[in-house]
Amino acid sequence: MVCAECDYDLREFKDETRLPYDVRLPERPKARRLVCRQCCNDGMDEMERLATLAGKPS
Ligand SMILES: [Zn+2]
Repeated sequence: MVCAECDYDLREFKDETRLPYDVRLPERPKARRLVCRQCCNDGMDEMERLATLAGKPS
């Protein structure tokens, strides 16, 4: 279980900036993809992406 972006070992919870977030790719929404907090900007990137999606009628 490592970060999909930087390969950091997410099983080591010693570093709070490396907490794991479940950030899924738009093209693979059902595939679990863990990214550390550092790589997903505290989860803000994902929140913004979801907000953008929600704001657009498909
Ligand atoms: Zn990372």
